Amino acid sequence: MRKLFLGLFLCLSILQGAKLDFDFYQKHGEKPGHTLLVIGGIHGNEPGSYFAPMLLATSYTITKGNLWLVPNLNFDSIVAYRRGIYGDMNRKFAHIDKDDPDYASVMRVKELITDKAVDMVLNLHDGHGYYRETWESSIFNPAAWGQACIIDQHKIPDPKFGELDKIAQQVSKKLNNGHLDTDHHRFGVKNTNTKYKDEQQQLSLTYFSITHNKPAFAIETSKNIKELHLKVFYQLKAIEAYMDIVGLEYERDFELTKENVLNKISYYGKATINGNITLDLDSVKRVLHYVPLKKRGNTLQSDNPLITILPHKTLERNLFKVNIGHKTITYLYPDYFQPDRSLQTVAMEIDGVKRTLAPAENFSFQKSFKVLAPEGYRVNIIGFTKKGMNNENGVTVRAKDIADRFAMDKQEQRFRIEIYKEGKFCTMLIAKKSSGK
Ligand SMILES: [Zn+2]
Repeated sequence: MRKLFLGLFLCLSILQGAKLDFDFYQKHGEKPGHTLLVIGGIHGNEPGSYFAPMLLATSYTITKGNLWLVPNLNFDSIVAYRRGIYGDMNRKFAHIDKDDPDYASVMRVKELITDKAVDMVLNLHDGHGYYRETWESSIFNPAAWGQACIIDQHKIPDPKFGELDKIAQQVSKKLNNGHLDTDHHRFGVKNTNTKYKDEQQQLSLTYFSITHNKPAFAIETSKNIKELHLKVFYQLKAIEAYMDIVGLEYERDFELTKENVLNKISYYGKATINGNITLDLDSVKRVLHYVPLKKRGNTLQSDNPLITILPHKTLERNLFKVNIGHKTITYLYPDYFQPDRSLQTVAMEIDGVKRTLAPAENFSFQKSFKVLAPEGYRVNIIGFTKKGMNNENGVTVRAKDIADRFAMDKQEQRFRIEIYKEGKFCTMLIAKKSSGK
C-alpha cells in the first residue's frame, strides 16, 4: 500500500508540472560588442537566481554589446519552489535521456551556450552557507557555496576571457569593495577543480560550457541570507561586474540600491489573460470568483517573465492561480466560457464623454459610464443590479450604484464589466472609481 501511495504521489506531482517554457531575451546595444549569456533559475528553490535576471529583463537597456538572457530556465521547478521537480537539471549537461522532461530545455540552452556569438556564460544560484577558503564553522567553510564566484578550473584557452580565476577574483574584489550589507557577506572565489576533483560538477552547465571553450562562471548568493532583495542586489552587482569585464554598456531605470531592489521586486505590474482580461496585480484581491476562463490552454502576457497562470487543485475543485515565481498573487475561481473575438473595440460613454476602448482595456471614471456595445452583445456589470434587467448594455451606471464588496481590488475601487455574445465571453473591462481629487 505504501509503495502504491508513493507511486501515485510522484505521478501526481509530475502531472502538476506545468511544462512551462523558459523565456529568452536578446538585448542588443546600438554599439556592437561582445555577448554575455546570463542563465537564471536552473534550480527552482533559489529565488535570488531568478529575481535578479527578472530585473535584467524588465529594467535594463543595453547600449553596447549584447545581453542574452534566460531568466527562468527551470520554470516548472520555480513555480513549485523545488530544486528540480524532474531531478537536478544541473546534472544533465553531460548526458540527458530523450524521455527526460528536462530534455527540451537542456538541449535548447546547450544550443545557446555553444552559439558562436556567445563570449561568456553566467549561471546564477543561491547556495548553502558562506564559502571560505579555510574551515571556520559549519556555515563558513570551503564546502559551502554561498557568496562565491565559482569557476571549474583556473583557465581555458579562450583568448578573450579564458583567465577564469583572474576574472572571478576581479569580480569578487569589486563586490567586497563597499557594497556589502554586512562584513560576513563578503565574496570569495571557489575553484571546484572539476576535471580532477568533482565528478558531480562534470555534469553541470558551466563545465559543459568550458569544455566547449566558452568562459563560464557561476554566481552564488547565500541561502542563509533571508532577505530576497539582498540576494538580488548582490546578484545584480556581480552580473554588472561581469558586464564591465565583457565590455557591455547598459542603462537601468533605477539606481541600484538595496531599497530600490526591494521596491522593484515587490511591484508586479499588469497581466493580460487570454487577451481579454487585464489584471492589476498590485491591487488585485487574493481570491476572485466567477472569472471567465477557458478550461485549458489559458495564456498570460506580462512584461515580467516570472508571472504566469497555472492550474491549481484543491480538494473541492480545480482553480487557477497567478504566480510570480513561486509566490501566488491571486487565486481565480473559474467560470468556463469559450472566447469570442468578434469585438474589436468597445464604444463607451465615460462621465458624459464618448470613448473607444480596446478589449481588456481598463479605465477610470468619476460619476458614471455607459457601455455602447452593438446589438447582440450582453453586458454584465458585476455589483450592479437593476430589477428585471439581465443586459446592462446602454444603461447609465453611476458610481454609487455599484456595491463596493464586488470590487476586484483591495482598495474596492475597481469593478468588472463583462461582455458576452451568444454565451461566449468577449472581454472584461475594468472600471476604476476615481474620486477626482
Ligand atoms: Zn543552485
